[in-house]
Amino acid sequence: MSAPSILQPINHPTFAKHNVQVMIKRDDKLDNIISGNKWRKLKYNLQDIKATGKKGIITFGGCFSNHIHATAFACYQQKLPAIAIIRGEASNQNNYTLAWAKHWGMKLIFVDRKTYRLRDDEIYLQHLQQQYPDYAIVPEGGSNTLALTGVAEVIDELNQQATFDTLMTPVGSGGTLAGLIVGDKEQHKLLGVSVLKQETYLENQIRNLLPEHAKAYSNWVLLNEYHCGGYAKFSQDDTNKIREFSIDTGIDFEPVYSGKMLLALLNLVETGYFPAQHRIVLLHTGGLQGLAGMFERGILNADEWPSLPVPPVR
Ligand SMILES: *Cc1c(COP(=O)(O)O)cnc(C)c1O
Repeated sequence: MSAPSILQPINHPTFAKHNVQVMIKRDDKLDNIISGNKWRKLKYNLQDIKATGKKGIITFGGCFSNHIHATAFACYQQKLPAIAIIRGEASNQNNYTLAWAKHWGMKLIFVDRKTYRLRDDEIYLQHLQQQYPDYAIVPEGGSNTLALTGVAEVIDELNQQATFDTLMTPVGSGGTLAGLIVGDKEQHKLLGVSVLKQETYLENQIRNLLPEHAKAYSNWVLLNEYHCGGYAKFSQDDTNKIREFSIDTGIDFEPVYSGKMLLALLNLVETGYFPAQHRIVLLHTGGLQGLAGMFERGILNADEWPSLPVPPVR
């Protein structure tokens, strides 16, 4: 999994009408199972675990987490023990995401919301480390310093593939955008689309992840008005637009991450945000496995969405 992901143009009447060029970097195609940006973020974490002789990995996530799903599979492939602290009830352990994680050998530890909130607390992490002395602790979403190095490679690949003006990505924890900022060295405009409702903590979290020299970079913006109501929230109108675009272009999106980036792009193009001839690259971060949990809960109808990367384990 070290070949560059492909970059493809997207033809759509909205882009033609407003005279902009849009391309998409298909990190969703990096691997059939591991969600694109989660692989970028895990790559050097896993290498580091091996290089330092650690025994395994401990990480954090929700019951439908792309990061948990990706980490479980990557560790299974690399024969590395994996433990996940999961926010939620053990009754969720048979959902699509967690059933596969278990199948791939990940040990799941369920905690309540209060305990989960301690996931970045120093004392809590020290205790965890004492319990599992030889394990690497990787934060929620995989977003740490080693993750940025992996994500920065997206920029190296893009520089070989095309010239462009703006690169867009969805933003959850901010690790992916931070990695792009580090890799880009202020060459392009970077547009992050926040998929959750927030005031300013995410900007600070992104800045905190950046190395000293990159903290002053000002070529990035976090757009805060495209969360559609909050994390994993969306309306029928939102999902209709996403599906319509997928059917027109043959590129699948899901409504939690990549779909919100797409809705932001369409709105920005339609409102004249980009100058004529502007060349925009979308980073497709993957995440299609996350659809499963929405099918299971009846939030989306499986018949109207792409099929899952792997069928349910059973
Ligand atoms: C986790 C995730 C994101 C957000 O990445 P961050 O580095 O947490 O900001 C975006 N897209 C998909 C598909 C994801 O799984």
